[in-house]
Amino acid sequence: MTPDSEIVCHFPRRKTKPVYVGRVKIGDGAPISVQSMTKTFTHDVAGTLNQIRLLAQAGCDIVRVAVPDRESVIALKQILRESPLPVVADIHFDPQLALMSIDAGVQGLRLNPGTIGNRQKIAEIAAAAGERRIPIRVGVNSGSLRRHLMREIEEGRLSLPEAMVLSAEEQIHILEDNGFDLIKVSLKAHDVLTTLQAHRLMAERCSYPFHCGITESGPPEYGSIKSAVGLALLISEGLADTVRVSLTAEPVEEVRLALSVLESMGLRVQARNIISCPTCARREIDVVQWVYKVEKVLQEHNVKNITVAVMGCVVNGPGEARDADIGITGSAGKAVIFRHGKVVATVPEEELIPTFVKELQQLISSKSAQTERK
Ligand code: SF4
Repeated sequence: MTPDSEIVCHFPRRKTKPVYVGRVKIGDGAPISVQSMTKTFTHDVAGTLNQIRLLAQAGCDIVRVAVPDRESVIALKQILRESPLPVVADIHFDPQLALMSIDAGVQGLRLNPGTIGNRQKIAEIAAAAGERRIPIRVGVNSGSLRRHLMREIEEGRLSLPEAMVLSAEEQIHILEDNGFDLIKVSLKAHDVLTTLQAHRLMAERCSYPFHCGITESGPPEYGSIKSAVGLALLISEGLADTVRVSLTAEPVEEVRLALSVLESMGLRVQARNIISCPTCARREIDVVQWVYKVEKVLQEHNVKNITVAVMGCVVNGPGEARDADIGITGSAGKAVIFRHGKVVATVPEEELIPTFVKELQQLISSKSAQTERK
């Protein structure tokens, strides 16, 4: 199964080998999947599972869980039994945690073999992951390059994107030398242009799929824009195979943003499309307030493929509302509600939301009845 597999990608895609994280195919032209990472302590099984379920509801395809200690591996076994999403274990330094996670049944690993040090253990991890067809993501963060590469940058012999690529290749070669090629690659920097340049260079040098994102992009207001711009550029050049937005926020926010980017680029079924005017002195309803509330109702109903227009007055309102599934327009101090261009109610503003909810529920029922008839 692949996310929204009915969507055809209209951007060029780099040719890559495929890997599977559980049921989700990554690379080789598969739809771009969305990942996030839990922010609970992994040993808190109930809290972690709760966050994973919320991520699944929000449309996440793959979840990553940090496994910093043995308590977390024990918890991971329970989490894997109940997780609705395929789980990637994020391991640093400790080979035993990687082997135990594989034994626990994890569907992917995030691990840099260069941090393990022990060749025998790396060989064991590669053999165990290969036997179970578990992919390993190797990755570079621009802020944690090895010292010899930092020196090359400082002395002007390498650019930061070139050093990132060399660093990723070091990790890739360790796995390849152990006969392992179920690899994904990430090249993350805090800024968009370094990230883009590193991916362009890496694309010329390997055919492994890319896990993309702008790392540690910050709090939502600032980080959302940076992430959206970065992902859009990578996607438009065919460089993204799976994406993760990294925000200092609840993980569901990361998934919503990643899906919005994919929807805006026509790569996912548009969950909900809200058309709303910027408002001006002609407005006859409080557009800002009602758009916010309409969006909340749509999220609560978890609707797909519905367009709602909220317009301040009759100048553009009826025209936009005609093309929407449900339209709301201010007129003579009241809210006029349209269904596919036909006026169905004219109500005072305080009755707008209950009336909208009623119309939305009827629309959802008639859409599902149509689907059943097909
Ligand atoms: S629809 Fe009306 S209120 Fe909204 S921006 Fe246009 S003119 Fe102003």
